[in-house]
Order: sequence, then C-alpha cells, then structure tokens
Amino acid sequence: MKRANVLSGLAVDRAPGLRSDPTRLAEAWARPETRVLPVWRSKHIVVTEESSRVAFVSPDRLRARDRENAILLGEGDGTTYFAVDVSEVDEPLAELGFDTVHTIVGLREVAPLLSQSDGALLAYANGMMSWHRRHRFCNACGGSTASAQAGHVRECSACQELHFPRTDPAVIMLVTAGEQCLLGRQAAWPDKVYSTLAGFVEPGESLEEAVAREVHEEAGIRVEDVHYHSSQPWPFPGSLMLGFTAVATTRDIEIQTDELEDARWFTRDELRAAETIRLPSTISIARRLIEDWLD
Ligand SMILES: [Zn+2]
Repeated sequence: MKRANVLSGLAVDRAPGLRSDPTRLAEAWARPETRVLPVWRSKHIVVTEESSRVAFVSPDRLRARDRENAILLGEGDGTTYFAVDVSEVDEPLAELGFDTVHTIVGLREVAPLLSQSDGALLAYANGMMSWHRRHRFCNACGGSTASAQAGHVRECSACQELHFPRTDPAVIMLVTAGEQCLLGRQAAWPDKVYSTLAGFVEPGESLEEAVAREVHEEAGIRVEDVHYHSSQPWPFPGSLMLGFTAVATTRDIEIQTDELEDARWFTRDELRAAETIRLPSTISIARRLIEDWLD
C-alpha cells in the first residue's frame, strides 16, 4: 500500500455510534482525561519543543456553551476527543491556560512539522469547523440550523431538514508527455512556484471527464489514459483532492489567462535542479504526484 498523504491517516476511531448516545457523551465530558482540541479562527494550538504536536485542553477549561457546539472527533486508547470553536475569545492561549511552549498556527504552516495522525486530526477538526461556520442556515428553506449528534448533523429549526457534513471533490492531475510533465502557475502564488493543474468536479461529470476538461480548459492540452493515484483531504475550506495521472495527446499549450499566468513542459532534470522554478508545498498532493513521477 502507498504511504498516506499528509492530512490523512487519522489514528483515532471516529466512533459514529457515540455521536447519538447522550449518556456516553455525558460520561466522556465528565472524565478529566477527555481531550478537547480548541480551534481558534481556523487556527490551532500546538506545542513547539523539538517537533510540533497538537495541544489539548481538559473539559473543565471550557464554558458550558462551548460544549453545546463541540464536535466529537472520536476515541483512541480509551480517550475521547472533541473539538471546540474558541474563536470568540481574544487571547486563547492565556484564557485556556496554555503557556509559553504553545503557539497558535495555521494548519498549512504547521502540517509539515506534525506527525501523520496529528496532521489528520487537525484536518478533520478544521474541515468540520468550516462546515459548521458555512451552514448556519438551511439550504432548503433558509431557516436557521443548529448542531446535533455531537456536531455531525445540523438540523433546520423551520423545516427539520437534516444537513450532513460535506466535502467537495476536486481533481488534481500530473499530465505527462514522454519525458516531460505539464505544470502551471497562478499569478497569486509565491514567486516561481509551479504546480499540477487542478479544478472542481462539476455536476453530471465523471472524475476522468473532469480531469480531461480541466486540462483542456486551463492549458489547451488533450489527454487520455487518466488513472487514479491517491487522494487527500484539503479542508481549506472543504475539498477532497483526487489525484490522477494523465497522458497528453497534444503538445501545444494555450493557457486560460483568468486561471493561469503560465504553463510549461518540464523535464525531470529541470524539476530536480529547481533553479528557475519552485515546487509546491511538501504537504500537498501536488508535490506527491510530482515526486512520484520524479522517482
Ligand atoms: Zn429548512
């Protein structure tokens, strides 16, 4: 089996049976060893000693209303894990009792320094928080919704429709032609960074069709032999990146300028030297697709 991509590989059991079991949830909240992951304005609190690891608080640090909106993450080694949104406080480190070895960081920034399972735990918590923040109103009737089933459902107060956490499929693909691969860059990216092309899957479209459409739209290249590689949760705010490889049947690039600033064919030597370009972040599936091709 291939190694898991960064931000996947959750070690705790998601414990779906516990989500609708108020008695066991109350018992978990009463145990001092229960671990609560605070999420502050989409950022996380980590310990930064030799390497970084996720920091938790015990339940007694929380206000009653924090518990009402808590999200059950799961169970592991006899411990129950929750995430809570603490965005309302201005000084989360001081107010939650953290000390100087703790810092507040964004997931993209800290992910390369975390263990596989800590990265996956933060991706899970971050994705769930984003979903709650963006689904406060019912998309069937416009009524307000409230969290239920330990944060895994939002129920509409007007029409009682149940809304479930969602993730949006996006395809990301390494396109090759002989000994070269196709990479592009967006104007907003850091200087010299080139990466694989990517885009959201549209309704009524297979993943393979989405790959072919995106490559043609963005770079004017036709592809065949579209094969699945691996996937990665990308909770910024709620995507699932589905990685593919594809083989180009045409070579002349014609970029769509509102998406890309440039796209080029690169040889392995050019990517390894990486003098004129920089590769995408080591946490991204884009980097994984490129590195697997380099190997
Ligand atoms: Zn409704």
